[in-house]
Amino acid sequence: MIISIASGKGGTGKTTVAVSLALSVPEAVYIDCDVEEPNGHLLLNPVIASRQDVFRKMPQVIDDRCTQCGACAQGCEFHAIVVLSTGVLILNDLCHGCGVCSYVCPTGAITEVDAHHGIIRRGRAGAGAVGFIDGTLDVGEMSASQLIGHVRKEALPGGITFLDAPPGTSCSMIAAVRGTDFCLLVTESTPFGLHDLTLAVNVLRVLGVSFGVVINKYDGTYRAPEEYCAADGIPVLMRIPFDRAIAMAYSRGIPPVTALPELKTRFRDMYEDIRVLAEHAAPVPGANG
Ligand code: SF4
Ligand code: SF4
Repeated sequence: MIISIASGKGGTGKTTVAVSLALSVPEAVYIDCDVEEPNGHLLLNPVIASRQDVFRKMPQVIDDRCTQCGACAQGCEFHAIVVLSTGVLILNDLCHGCGVCSYVCPTGAITEVDAHHGIIRRGRAGAGAVGFIDGTLDVGEMSASQLIGHVRKEALPGGITFLDAPPGTSCSMIAAVRGTDFCLLVTESTPFGLHDLTLAVNVLRVLGVSFGVVINKYDGTYRAPEEYCAADGIPVLMRIPFDRAIAMAYSRGIPPVTALPELKTRFRDMYEDIRVLAEHAAPVPGANG
C-alpha cells in the first residue's frame, strides 16, 4: 500500500499530514519525495543510518568519431543536444539522461558517463517506530523526476508507505504520485486552496489514481472546497481545525500528533478509510497513468 500525499500548491500542510499519518499507523514508512525541498526530517528528527549517492547518465561525445550527421539532435525530444559546425553541444540542464542519442548515433560517437544527481538518506524516526527515507537533489540539477524514481524504489513490498509528494502539478508531482494506490490531496479552505485543488484533481483523474481530500486549517467559514468535493463525489476524509495548539506545535517543529496524541486515532481512522477506498477503487475512465 503506497499512499501519496500531495497538494496543488505549497504551504497547505501536506508534509504535516504525511508525517502525522506515518507516526499514527504502526510500522509505517515515510518517504519524502519533495527532493527539491525535503523538510519532513524537520518534523520527524530521524536518526540517519545510511546515505547513498545517486548518479544520472549523461551523454558524452567522442569528437573524432562524430560525422555531424545530426541523428542525435533529431532523436532528442528534450532539445538537449545541438549539432554545430564546430562539434556537438550537450545542454546538461535540459538533458534527461534518456539514452536515445547514444542509441541512434550510427558511429558510436556517444558514450554515457555518470553525473552526480543527489543523495538518498535512510533512517528511523518516532523512537524507531517509523521508517524514514528522503532524497535531496543537487543544487543546479534541473529535473527532479529521476531522483524521485530512485527514492520511490525504497518503498518496501507489502509495507505501508506514506509518500510525501512535491507540491503543485508539475512533472515532479506526477513522478511521485503516478501509480500509487491512493493519493491524499491536502488543501486549505481558501479560494487559492480551492483553485489549486481543482488542478490537482484534474491531474489525478488523468493519471487514474484514486484520491480523497483533507481540508487543513478548517474553521467552517469558507465552505467552497467541501461544496466542490460534494458536487464532484470526492470524499473529504478529514477536516483539521484551524487550531492554535497545532500551529504552535508546528512552529516549534513538533508534529500535531506528538503535541496532541488524541489526534493519532483520527489519523489512524483516516488510514483505514483510505485502505477501504483504495481496495474498492474502480478504474478511472480515460485514465492513461
Ligand atoms: S548522431 Fe553521432 S555522429 Fe551523428 S552528429 Fe550525433 S554524435 Fe555525431
Ligand atoms: S540523453 Fe536523452 S535527453 Fe539527454 S541529450 Fe541524449 S537524447 Fe537528449
